[in-house]
Amino acid sequence: MTTTTRTKTCAGPACDRRVYSRGLCRTHDQQRRKGRTLTPIPIPTIDLILDAAWCIGGTVTVAELSDRTGISHNTILRAIQRNPDLIECAGTIPVKHTGEPQSRDVSAWRITPAGLDRLHG
Ligand SMILES: [Zn+2]
Repeated sequence: MTTTTRTKTCAGPACDRRVYSRGLCRTHDQQRRKGRTLTPIPIPTIDLILDAAWCIGGTVTVAELSDRTGISHNTILRAIQRNPDLIECAGTIPVKHTGEPQSRDVSAWRITPAGLDRLHG
């Protein structure tokens, strides 16, 4: 985390979201209003996917994302399909699996500029 002079971030635990009210982000402010102990907010699946895609670099397959995040192929595909602005299909690449009688093409994905903004924003 760098300390910049941009928007203030939430005072909640492990949170760097923008402040919504009383020094807290919207989610942590909701927790406060319900009288609950403030807890870390689970990271959305799409953010885990973007982070994994960034770490792998270039174009990535669902299998690579699944290996890296431990999230199932179906869950990753659903998250990708729900966020076409953040991660996009970059065409297909041949599967490198050995022992398969025929090579099969799978879709490869890459982070969009909007996705990069979300990663580093
Ligand atoms: Zn927060």
